[in-house]
Formats: sequence, structure tokens, C-alpha cells
Amino acid sequence: MKLYPLFADLSGRQVLVVGGGVVGERKAAALLEAGAKVVVGAPELSPALQGWAEAGRVEWWRGTFEDHWLDHAWLVVAATSDASLHRHMAALGEARRIFVNVVDDAETSSFHVPAVIDRSPVVIAISSGGHAPMLARLIRERLEVLLDPVIGSLATLMARMRAHIKARVPDVSLRRRFYERLLSSPVQSLLRRGQWALAEASAERLLDATEATPAGSVLLVGAGPGDPGLLTLRGLRALNEADVILHDRLVSIDVLALARRDAERIEVAKQAGNHHATQDQIHALMLEHARAGRRVVRLKGGDPFVFGRGGEELEFLRSHGIPYEVVPGITAAVACAAYAGIPLTHREHAQSVRLVTAHCRNSIDTLDWQALAQERQTLAFYMGTSELSAIRQNLIDHGRAATTPFALIENGSRPEQRIVVGTLANVVEQAMASNVRSPALLIVGEVAALATTLSWFGSAPIGTVPAATLPAAAAA
Ligand code: SAH
Repeated sequence: MKLYPLFADLSGRQVLVVGGGVVGERKAAALLEAGAKVVVGAPELSPALQGWAEAGRVEWWRGTFEDHWLDHAWLVVAATSDASLHRHMAALGEARRIFVNVVDDAETSSFHVPAVIDRSPVVIAISSGGHAPMLARLIRERLEVLLDPVIGSLATLMARMRAHIKARVPDVSLRRRFYERLLSSPVQSLLRRGQWALAEASAERLLDATEATPAGSVLLVGAGPGDPGLLTLRGLRALNEADVILHDRLVSIDVLALARRDAERIEVAKQAGNHHATQDQIHALMLEHARAGRRVVRLKGGDPFVFGRGGEELEFLRSHGIPYEVVPGITAAVACAAYAGIPLTHREHAQSVRLVTAHCRNSIDTLDWQALAQERQTLAFYMGTSELSAIRQNLIDHGRAATTPFALIENGSRPEQRIVVGTLANVVEQAMASNVRSPALLIVGEVAALATTLSWFGSAPIGTVPAATLPAAAAA
């Protein structure tokens, strides 16, 4: 069953509630709140309903249900304890095209009453389609905490200023920007203190600033390794405010799903071997959209400044006078280590950690292997899956023990994450046996062995590290 959400204007319209107990009372109260003309049909009423009937707030039809009660009703609520009566009422409603809500019976109901967060005039309604009302209520509780009560006042103020705002800022996307800024402006705190005139003046100043808003900008945003929970709050906000999103292939769909729906998404995947041309194209795209006054989010896997070519992009933007900001992200080494239970600088085993790129023969040859082969440091190799044998050879040639543990983390932090462990001696064979694919991160160092005992996410590590090389996990 798929429901169509709607907000109904019930003011002055007759609604029939059948049942005079506490449930009927709750339903009647909510309907009265919405200004409905409530009729309660029941042989007897709860004390509160009784009071409302006496005060003329609800009309009481005393007795058991009769079909003609449905005459003139826009909506009907069945709130008795008689299931067969409920089914009868639902069938009647169906025949007469009157919507009937049957309490606690989603299937028989032709309309559902959602869980509500009331910041009038802003109202948020949540439905689970009757499948999990408890869950809907929990979601409601969470949102209650998130949504400042002042949102209602803000909406009231905006209603008052709406025509004026539209006239001052005719451009839709500029206007959207005004509203976004409004949400993080002093206007809210002024409203919270009840200072409406000051709040209005402050909104007015914000309008001035919006009109003067210069051309577009580019935000370089780190999307993290894949788990959308690892995106920063600032990154999330950037995604919500973006007009255009230029993203790498490495950015997970789950992160992209958080972006503003009507933002234009452009995948700017770099094909291996064709790096240069596409980097130029990315630059051209950033420039084109920013110059058209759009807010461009350049979204990169992990962190934009860790093997992400963020530096080149900033230099380009700077030389073209485009304003930019950078939002860091959780880089693969940090995320994969966390999700594999590998403390990168466990003090028993490592005093430093190095982030190393190994994406081609060329970069392998220019690395300082003497330094990389030193003991008591952890190495995190990015883009290394195709160069495992060169990495092993160089480390061993320069003195790192063949018994040094490694962990290869494929699709770190994503549901399909895999961890392969072993020692330098068998890293190539282990990776091949498990058919490890990109994106994968190689961690080399004593700490890698801890994955066998401390890993917690996804499936258990594949492979073993000989006991002799296992550091004492208890010494953490
Ligand atoms: N800017 C990114 C790195 C880009 S280079 C960052 O900070 O993480 C791409 C390499 O990052 C991949 O080849 C792989 O080695 C690593 N990587 C990125 N995401 C990963 C993930 N979810 N799991 C494992 N490795 C990942």
C-alpha cells in the first residue's frame, strides 16, 4: 500500500468520531485543534469528552452507531472496541466515498493519521504506512529534538514578508540562498526572545546582503570513504545547498543520496591513463558553473587534500578569481583502519604513520624506501593493489622483515568491506587468492595484525598472521 500524504483543512467541517473512550477522546482533541466540527457518537463518554459536550465544544450523538451518522461527515474515525462494527463503517465509507480511519487497523483504514511534529504553521507528519507506528513515533521524537521550536515563529515572519522578499529577490536560486542563510542567522535567536521588530530588521539586512551576492563559488568537499555517517556536518550542508555537484567515481551512492534533489550531478571519473585531459575538463566545468553564479560542490572520496588533487584545483580557482572553501573528509587510511580495528599508532608498535601513494611504477620508483622500511612505523598505501609485488620487494630489500604483518582493506566502511591479512612474505599471493579489487588500502606494520582480534565491522578478516608476530592486544 502506497499512501498519498496530504494536509487537510478541516476548519468548520464535520468529522464523526465513533467511540467515547480515551482513544476517541484523543482523536477528538486533535480534530478540535485543527478547528473541525467534531461529532462524537457513543452510548457514553469519557469524563473529558463529557465536559467538552457540556461546554458545546463537541456534539454528542448518544447511542450505538447508525448508518445515517455518516451523512454530512467529511471524515470518520472509528474508535470503538468492536472490530465488526469498524469493518461495517469502513465498507459504508467506501461506498459513500468518505474517508474512514480505523484506530489501530491500518488495513481497514482509508486514511491514516501520522505522527506529527507541530511547529505551526510548520507541521511535519511522519507515516510508516501503518507498518511500524512505533518506529514513526521514535523518528518523531528524534526530530522533535532537532527542530528548534522557533521555526514556527520564523515561518510566521516569513509569511508576513513573503511578497516583499519575492519582490526584492526575484531570482529563485538567490532567494533560496536567502532562506538558507536565514536558517543560520541571528533572526532566529531574536525571535526566540520575542523581538519581532529586530528580527524583521535583521532579515531585511540579510536581504540586502543577498542582493549583493557575487558570482558562484566552489566548495571542495571530502565525502569520506563511503559510509554516509562519516560525512561531516559541514559537508552535508554543502551537499544540501549545492546547485551543481561534480563528483568522483569513488564517492559512494549513499553519500550522493544525501544531496539536494534538484542539484545537478556530474560524474567526473578519471580514466586511468587519461588523467591530464580529464583534470583539465574538471577545471573547465568548475569554472563554467561558478561563473554562471552557481554553488559548485567538488565532491571527492576521502579527503580532498590526500591524494585527491585538491591542491591543483584550488590553484586553478585562485588564478581565475573564483571564491572557494575546503571541507575536509575522513581519509581512507583513517577510516579503513578504524573499520578494521587497526589502531594506526598503537603506542606499543608504531610512533608514526605514513600515507603513501603507489599508483604506478613511476611513483613506486621515486619513493624513499630506505625511510619506509624503518621499524616502528605504520604505512598506509593508497592505490596500491596493482603494485603489491613492487611494494613487497622494495620494503624487504631495504630491510623491513618479511614477517611484518599487513592488512588489505577493500571497500572500507562500506557494507561489502573485506579485510585480508598476512605478512609481507605472502601479501601478493593472499591478495590474489581473495581477488582483492580497488578501492583497497594496504596497511603495513605490526599494528595490522590487530585486525585479527579487534576488527568489528563486516565480515571477519581473511587469512592469518603467525602468532609470533602478533603484538599483545591487551596492551592497548
Ligand atoms: N582522497 C582519497 C584518496 C583518493 S586515492 C582519500 O582521502 O581517501 C584513491 C585510493 O584511496 C584508492 O585506490 C584506495 O587505495 C583508497 N580508498 C579510497 N576509499 C577507499 C575505501 N572505501 N576502502 C579502501 N580504500 C579506499
